[in-house]
Amino acid sequence: MSERDAVELTRALLRFDTINPPGQERACARHAGALLEGWGYRVDFHEYEEGRTSVVARAGGSASKAPLCLTGHVDTVALGVAPWTRDPFSGETDGDRLYGRGSSDMKAGIAAILLAARNLAKKLSGTPGVVLVLTAAEEGGCIGSQHLARTQLLGKAGAMIVGEPTSNYPFVGHKGSLKFHAKFRGVSAHGSMPELGVNAIYKAAKAVSKLEGFDFGTKPHPVMGGPTMNVGTFAAGQGVNMVPDQASIGVDIRTVAGMDHRALLSRLKDLLGKEAELDVFSDMNAVWTEPGNEWVQRVFEISGRHLGARPSAKTATYNTDAGNLLKVYTGAPTVVLGPGEAQLAHQTDEYCSMDRIRQSVAIYEDLIRDWCGV
Ligand SMILES: [Zn+2]
Repeated sequence: MSERDAVELTRALLRFDTINPPGQERACARHAGALLEGWGYRVDFHEYEEGRTSVVARAGGSASKAPLCLTGHVDTVALGVAPWTRDPFSGETDGDRLYGRGSSDMKAGIAAILLAARNLAKKLSGTPGVVLVLTAAEEGGCIGSQHLARTQLLGKAGAMIVGEPTSNYPFVGHKGSLKFHAKFRGVSAHGSMPELGVNAIYKAAKAVSKLEGFDFGTKPHPVMGGPTMNVGTFAAGQGVNMVPDQASIGVDIRTVAGMDHRALLSRLKDLLGKEAELDVFSDMNAVWTEPGNEWVQRVFEISGRHLGARPSAKTATYNTDAGNLLKVYTGAPTVVLGPGEAQLAHQTDEYCSMDRIRQSVAIYEDLIRDWCGV
């Protein structure tokens, strides 16, 4: 690999505006897919909506062992309100820093996956091989991977690396998420005669109080800690002189490994009662691989050589596409490991370390070699 490759490729990806919403990942996804095709990969594109493109690429493959999956998302979050001092799309550099929206989260990770894939492309024939999954619409609900998991395109994978920003530290999982809106209906009336109406805000407010005191009744996970709940939105009322006939709350629950979302949801439905109409818009289990898993131990060993110290079992704070991909890659041991800096994700003047990108390419290559025996 030339020293410049990692920087040039990350910069090329940064030039595509994939801010989500609206996303529009097509041009960036097509660019990555064309590179992979040029290196001999079998490439499929999937659009769950016009312009919202994900890429699935494969090399190698054998009957005896499923491929190793490397995955990352192509979209980024918005620039935010605060002005940037660097151009968010041109890939300005300063010392070891490469600036841009999505540099850490996670076009550096996509670039590292692509370069490792390129460097080993010729060696994977007849081996278990790799499957690369580059998703659209990860930000704000992992919608792209949710759609991909319903297609046949993902095939199989025996283990998975998610290239989200971890400064190349291998995390063995992250919390799950269950997000829903609960809608309450009432009957509208004039504010001077509330006895003629039914106030939906009162219903929603009672529900919020119940949720505030909710006891999950689960023991904290030894690494992830306990589950959490946050009522993040409350929308209701059209005027102070009207009895509101509709109210809606938005609830964000973060679960830990071992929790059953269906059982949790049914408890919440019982608690909120028939008046609440629940619309679940995100449902992803926690991701957790036992640190004693044989492959995770290999990941610790290999990444430890590059990082200078053997990692220990930790989990990421954020969600990833793994929650959806594991619906298809059932039971595949999974680590989150990528070159970006987690604390810079979604920040103004986001940057990543160019050394970390190169280190990430080397780690991915070693992990692919280890998996494929090349
Ligand atoms: Zn991300």
